[in-house]
Amino acid sequence: MFLERVWNVCSSSVYQFIYLLIKIKYNKFKIKTMFRILLIFAFLFPSTLNALVFDGKFIQGHFIVGKTQPETEIWIDKKKVKVSKDGFFAFGIGRDRKYDIVITSIKNGKKNRITKKIQKRKYKIQRIDGLPEKKVTPPKEVYERIKKENKIISDARSVNSNLTFFKNKFKPPLENAIITGVYGSQRILNGKPKWPHYGIDFAAKEGTQIKAMLDGTATMVEKDLFYTGGTLIFDHGHGISTLYMHMQKIYVKKGQKVKQGEVIGTVGSTGRSTGAHLDVRLNWFGTRLDPMTVLNIK
Ligand SMILES: [Zn+2]
Repeated sequence: MFLERVWNVCSSSVYQFIYLLIKIKYNKFKIKTMFRILLIFAFLFPSTLNALVFDGKFIQGHFIVGKTQPETEIWIDKKKVKVSKDGFFAFGIGRDRKYDIVITSIKNGKKNRITKKIQKRKYKIQRIDGLPEKKVTPPKEVYERIKKENKIISDARSVNSNLTFFKNKFKPPLENAIITGVYGSQRILNGKPKWPHYGIDFAAKEGTQIKAMLDGTATMVEKDLFYTGGTLIFDHGHGISTLYMHMQKIYVKKGQKVKQGEVIGTVGSTGRSTGAHLDVRLNWFGTRLDPMTVLNIK
C-alpha cells in the first residue's frame, strides 16, 4: 500500500518532471534517494499532489476503490466514472482481462494518466454431474424466458447511482458458512463445459438467515428465475452491485433501502441448484468481480 502510494505520487506529471530534472543534474542518485526527495517535496508542497490512491489490487477479478481530489474527472480506460464529492470512485478488473488498465484523471484542465499491469490468476476446474439435463441444456421453450430474465438482471446491474456505500467494508452474508464454490472456476456440468462460475457458494441449511453484506437499495427482486431461483440485486453506488441467489424466502421489496447486517431472506435451493446454498456475486456494471476480494474470509 505504501509503495503503491509513493508510486502514484511519483507518476503524476509534476513529479515526473522533477524526477527528470534531478536525474539530469545528479544522475548518480539511486531510485530510493529519488523517492525520498520527491516525498519531501510532496510534504513541503502538498498542493502539487495530483495523486491517485487505490485500495485494492490490480489482479484479475479484483474490486478497487480509488481516491482522488474532489472535483476531479476520472476515466477507467475509455469509460468515464462517477467521482463522489469527497473524491471516491469504484471499478474492477474482469476475470480474463490481460491487457493493461489506463486510469486518466483531469483536474483544472491538467491531465494525468496512469497505466497498470494486470496480474493473472489461475482458476479451478469444477465438475458437477447428475444435474437434471433440462437445467444444463435448457429446452427451447424456455429460451424466451431466459432472455427476458437476463435483460432484467442486466438492467439492474447497469444502475449508476450516486450512492457511496461501496467504499465501506463488506460483511459476510452468513455466519459460519462453508465455502463450496469459488470465483472464476470453469464449470463442467454433466460433462459439458459451461460459463465460468462468478460467485462464491456457501453451503448452509435451508432456512438459514441471509444478511446484507453492505448498505444498499434493492434494484431487483425476483422470486423464481430459471437459473438462479429467488434472486436479489442491491445497488451500492457507482455501478457496484451485489447479488444473492437460490434464495428460499425474500424479505425485501424492489426499491427498499437496507442496512448492512439486516436479514434479507433465507437460504434455499431454488433455480438450477444441486442443494441448499447461497451464491453471492459482486459486479462493477457488466464486469463480474470476485466477492472474496471484499469479504476477507478464509
Ligand atoms: Zn454458485
